[in-house]
Amino acid sequence: MNKETSFLVALVELANLQDNSETVARFTKKYRAYVNPSDVLKTRDELRELWRGGERASKIATRLLCEGPFMVNTANARVDWQSGTLVYRGQNQFQRDLYELLKVSERAKICANNCGTKYFIIPPTRRLSTRFCSSDCMHEANLRSKNKSWHKNKSKWKGKR
Ligand SMILES: [Zn+2]
Repeated sequence: MNKETSFLVALVELANLQDNSETVARFTKKYRAYVNPSDVLKTRDELRELWRGGERASKIATRLLCEGPFMVNTANARVDWQSGTLVYRGQNQFQRDLYELLKVSERAKICANNCGTKYFIIPPTRRLSTRFCSSDCMHEANLRSKNKSWHKNKSKWKGKR
């Protein structure tokens, strides 16, 4: 469970969305106009690619941030001549959230416990090397590996007595 962060809630919820029409309907009702209702699962799959990272993530994020799927015909970037920078301006909440995610892209991780909310963002208070979305998942995985090594070594340990 991803309870330790309330950062980019809608985006993280979308990435973790289950594959059924009920949860999709609930999501589109909760976050109206966040993504095109007919594109929810497609956008979710693209988000999951972002979490996996790499060149493919760059390609997908470029398209989502700069070309659409919500492109109104104003530009998504404007020049701030004074500071010598380009300022990104998302057309909607989804693009603005995605831009925030981009800034912390190294913190978008997939929980090693493979839980129901495995796409998560590591909060600033936790180390970047964190492999689990929550302490619950960490404990669960630790228990499991202990059990595994117990089963593997059971006969060995018993034999030693
Ligand atoms: Zn987890």
